[in-house]
Amino acid sequence: MSLFQNATYIASAHHLQDLPPPREPEIAFAGRSNSGKSSAINTLANRARLAFVSKTPGRTQTINLFRLAGGGILADLPGYGYAKVPDAMRRHWEETLSGYLQTRASLCGLALIMDARHPLTERDEIMLAWFRPTARPIHVLLTKADKLSRTEATAALQRVRERLSRLGSDYTAQLFSSLRRTGVEEAEAVFSGWLAGRVSDPPAAPASGHKKAPGQRGKPGAKRLKCD
Ligand code: GDP
Repeated sequence: MSLFQNATYIASAHHLQDLPPPREPEIAFAGRSNSGKSSAINTLANRARLAFVSKTPGRTQTINLFRLAGGGILADLPGYGYAKVPDAMRRHWEETLSGYLQTRASLCGLALIMDARHPLTERDEIMLAWFRPTARPIHVLLTKADKLSRTEATAALQRVRERLSRLGSDYTAQLFSSLRRTGVEEAEAVFSGWLAGRVSDPPAAPASGHKKAPGQRGKPGAKRLKCD
């Protein structure tokens, strides 16, 4: 059975204080509106409508939590970067997303969804900057890869990997297509590793000036990823 199959809806939170206590390892899915985040979640869950696939970008405005059958939580974060969102709502979500990414103690890693044709937008970079101080892993899914030629897709992947390698040793990226269902096994291997508390490589020494966040990995070189 795939990792996200038989996931069940738990709760939606509009504010951080509405979130359930951080008792189980959690993986957050974030991405620009229309990046293909909901489709990617549904593809990984092998379900037509676990996450809501919207024709109206910016519409999902809560943090939606799902319990995974094998243990752990999937958190579907509101899409960002939709131009028509009123300023007050944008400010609320900037505060809520940054607070969530920086303080959610149970967060094991961030799945960052980017349209393979337009990766690393200014707002994607903001998400990377918010999450980076936690020193937890990030995996970028470059979605809609079916819309690119093989050469273009390879170039996009290489560009994103180069950018990520400058930010942290635990940052990875892959191509993904919900339409063709490609990249599913690769993504599952990464996310199940996070939930099992494994990391792919021994973490590098933290960059100078980086403060440890509560609940982050202990000693450099430790193989366990602690997300409590
Ligand atoms: P979200 O706003 O990030 O959750 O994006 P959605 O999952 O709602 O997808 C936005 C649009 O992109 C929809 O029309 C989807 O059908 C389309 N889409 C999503 N993933 C893919 C993909 O892998 N390939 C193609 N060709 N279209 C996709």
